[in-house]
Amino acid sequence: MKSIFVLWTDDPRTVYNDFYNQTHPAVADQLGSAERLNKEIIMPIDAASLRGNFIWDAIDRHLVGKRRRRSSGFTDINCPMCVSRGESADRRYRCGVAPSADSVGINCFNCGFKTGWTRGRRLGRDLKEFLRAIGVPEVELARLEAMAALMHRHTGSIGASPTALPPSSFPAAPLPSGARSIHDWLAEDCEEPDFLEVATYLLSRGDDVAKWPSYMWTPSTKDGMNRRLILPFMHEGAIVGYSARAIDAEVQPRYLGSKPPDYLFNNAVLRLRSRKYIVLVEGAFDAIAIDGVGLLGSTLTDRQAAWLRSTGQTVIVVPDQDTAGGKLIDMAQRYGWSVAFPRTIGSRPWWDGDVKDVAEATRRYGRLWTLRSILETATADERVIAVRLRLQQQFTEPCKSR
Ligand SMILES: [Zn+2]
Repeated sequence: MKSIFVLWTDDPRTVYNDFYNQTHPAVADQLGSAERLNKEIIMPIDAASLRGNFIWDAIDRHLVGKRRRRSSGFTDINCPMCVSRGESADRRYRCGVAPSADSVGINCFNCGFKTGWTRGRRLGRDLKEFLRAIGVPEVELARLEAMAALMHRHTGSIGASPTALPPSSFPAAPLPSGARSIHDWLAEDCEEPDFLEVATYLLSRGDDVAKWPSYMWTPSTKDGMNRRLILPFMHEGAIVGYSARAIDAEVQPRYLGSKPPDYLFNNAVLRLRSRKYIVLVEGAFDAIAIDGVGLLGSTLTDRQAAWLRSTGQTVIVVPDQDTAGGKLIDMAQRYGWSVAFPRTIGSRPWWDGDVKDVAEATRRYGRLWTLRSILETATADERVIAVRLRLQQQFTEPCKSR
């Protein structure tokens, strides 16, 4: 076994050294002779190379012509681990590799091999095995290890600086014409039938949803706005978009509005230093119900993730229970976040089978019980998450026809 010594410097102006840029055989020769001489090898690492996703770059380089790209951003490859894990060789591209700006996730659906890397972490044993299996030479592997270790050590300076930054501001955006606070309409004793029906719809969502102070309504009939409940999107006191929910069940689309990219609903809670947890949910009503943060969808962008991570608080993801939130869970796992499964745990699940989201849970059980159901069933252990996800999918099957 080779011992490789890597020296690095804290100085970000580290001089770029051509030494490592030479071809692999040349480096290997030097390492070989060094080994014989029992001498330290100095392998400078330039700061620029640390800014990219160097683990993905290495995988990318060694998988030429052996992969299929999917629109989801995943790359499918023939799993290099199946044989060593007792399966027959994979020829059906069953291993998915998912890169993001600062992480890589690897997951084989055949042998169950699963590993990954996130900026700021060292390389795990499984990942090294994977890299070797796709043909990354030992010398390059040592360099990757050194780079990951360097970033791990300097999390405050270069190491953890995520390539995606939290959004700093959002442009102001107009509301539907005539929109005013529900409270204002109430104060004026508005007796418009449409307004009263919108207010009735709001009350039907339960106290925890209804007591949010910022709902709006307009008598304008454009886009059927008079039959919709308006939720303004706010950021640092300014209105930056809105969502308008139809109160009539048959109306499509159910939601109209405008959402700026990378926005998080109810983001004011991210500034509350007293909070220990951030409950991350899909919908705006869910966020209101639990005073959590809403994605307004089931995908998480890198900048949204950076925003959440910048708070330093523990994030618990509660995906909608009917979609089983697979995609959102994958993303949550990249950042080591917890995922809650209030509908599948134990002999007696916390939520009844027909409760599919946080808003409905608070309507039925109240906010405290719902919050407790989330905390008690949250886990960041990826093996536990995999099992629960499967349970939940089975559990969800019979509900699909509803
Ligand atoms: Zn496999």
